[in-house]
Amino acid sequence: MTTVPPPFPPPDDPAAVLAAVVTHGYCIGCGACAVADPRITLAETPHGLYTAVLPPRPRPAAGQVCPFAATANEDHLAPELFPDAPHHHPLLGRYAGLYAGAVTEGDYRAAGSSGGLVTWLVSELLRRGDIDGVIHVAPAADQPGQFAYRLSTSVAAVRQGAKSRYYPVQFAQVLQGLAGRGQRFAFVGVPCFVKAVRLLARQDPALRAALPYCLAIFCGHLKSKAFAEMIAWQCGVPPGEPFAIDFRHKRPGAPANRYAVSVTPLAAAAAPPRVVPIAKLYGLDWGLGLFKPQACDGCDDVAGELADLAAGDAWLPGYVADPRGANVLIVRHPALLTLLSAAAAAGRLTLTALAAPEIVRSQAASFRHRREGLALRLHDADQRGAWRPAKRIAPGTAGVSRRRAQLYRLRARLAARSHQRYLLARRHRHFLLFPVLMAGDELRYYLWRGRWWRALPKLLLTLARAWRRGRAGR
Ligand SMILES: Cc1cc2nc3c(=O)[nH]c(=O)nc-3n(C[C@H](O)[C@H](O)[C@H](O)COP(=O)(O)OP(=O)(O)OC[C@H]3O[C@@H](n4cnc5c(N)ncnc54)[C@H](O)[C@@H]3O)c2cc1C
Ligand code: SF4
Ligand code: SF4
Repeated sequence: MTTVPPPFPPPDDPAAVLAAVVTHGYCIGCGACAVADPRITLAETPHGLYTAVLPPRPRPAAGQVCPFAATANEDHLAPELFPDAPHHHPLLGRYAGLYAGAVTEGDYRAAGSSGGLVTWLVSELLRRGDIDGVIHVAPAADQPGQFAYRLSTSVAAVRQGAKSRYYPVQFAQVLQGLAGRGQRFAFVGVPCFVKAVRLLARQDPALRAALPYCLAIFCGHLKSKAFAEMIAWQCGVPPGEPFAIDFRHKRPGAPANRYAVSVTPLAAAAAPPRVVPIAKLYGLDWGLGLFKPQACDGCDDVAGELADLAAGDAWLPGYVADPRGANVLIVRHPALLTLLSAAAAAGRLTLTALAAPEIVRSQAASFRHRREGLALRLHDADQRGAWRPAKRIAPGTAGVSRRRAQLYRLRARLAARSHQRYLLARRHRHFLLFPVLMAGDELRYYLWRGRWWRALPKLLLTLARAWRRGRAGR
């Protein structure tokens, strides 16, 4: 097999690589480059994602902090961050301990997406005086129904940030000016954001001192703003009208992975929330990857390998049946391990040690897509002569079955087309147009997933539901 190496830009020119990241659609819109070079701004694309807007000659430092442009990858950075971590796993990175668990005190678990451990941990650090504030994602104060990064300095404010927001965010303004105040903060983000923050801190000792803790949430992929709007539309809120959304509404009696979404219209006063199980909504099958940014198909870090602690959903036998939800945890920072162990001994949390294969199993689909699938996508890009970021994963198709190759390629197509076709349905103000336009690719996806005899009924059911819900939201 011969592959064509990426032709340009020169890998030793960070500013040129940064420009290629943006031009070729691999910008995830984190905002790190704008912290390194204030002439860079973030703009929202027509598809509802953030992207960097670069000046003609960005500073090289901006390229060195971009998670898709930096030459330093997770394997280079992790030994600098966790030199004493006793264990290493090729998919999970370095670690001190692996656990499943949940918060038992207060209502952190009920208020969180999984076991509530992320919000509990940053609240505890704040309560103990280990940090002065938390940089995290929460409902935006000035834009009802939207989400944004902010700095919270009280436990009450930190707790408003609980729950997963499948929504684009950026941290540029919040991180600017954080260093040099003599204060310490914890940062919470998806793995690529944590990488960006680590790269910024690597360049700036004052920022490094200001950020003693970085926590990651596992990440399958991000969604554009259209994802939230599509859900709200199916719940009777047409595009353009304001709404609040809870992407992870726990359903009493249902397994943790069969959660619901809750949409509250904000146009009418005191409108009740509409709670709908995800299985009844169109577009919520995460395997399809609708509204996924292209950058996520160039990402290889599922487990937040550069974070002091990374948390995900414990959708594993023994945990998933509990509607209250539970976390899987990868702990890397010794101080956090001590803190968690003491809290578990005091009965404030439950913590059960897990073996690495169990954590991997909880994210099996994600690891397949971001290892085998990524190798195939890199190979395809090289064959086309298209630029793509340098990755730890070697391009190639070895061991990829024809069926899996079709699935990976279809996913990329479904993601790209969902952005455009949703806009078309929105323009015509007819929701049903969206699933109808996606039906061909979707049907092929389900056929290639196997059980072909189930594909057509599944799609018809999906369309019928979309029609019923779409009528309500026209
Ligand atoms: C886009 C996205 C994809 C995910 N994919 C997976 C996955 O594939 N597998 C898996 O196991 N888990 C995934 N998660 C994580 C999972 O949903 C839970 O967030 C995680 O298990 C922590 O649960 P918790 O109850 O401890 O957190 P909570 O106590 O609910 O706290 C969640 C924390 O995450 C922060 N946060 C929420 N949304 C964002 C965001 N968009 N960007 C940055 N920070 C945010 C909040 O500010 C808060 O600090 C994903 C989360 C997101 C946002
Ligand atoms: S991914 Fe982040 S750092 Fe890279 S170009 Fe986009 S906004 Fe800038
Ligand atoms: S999949 Fe990767 S690139 Fe996409 S948001 Fe998650 S961590 Fe970032």
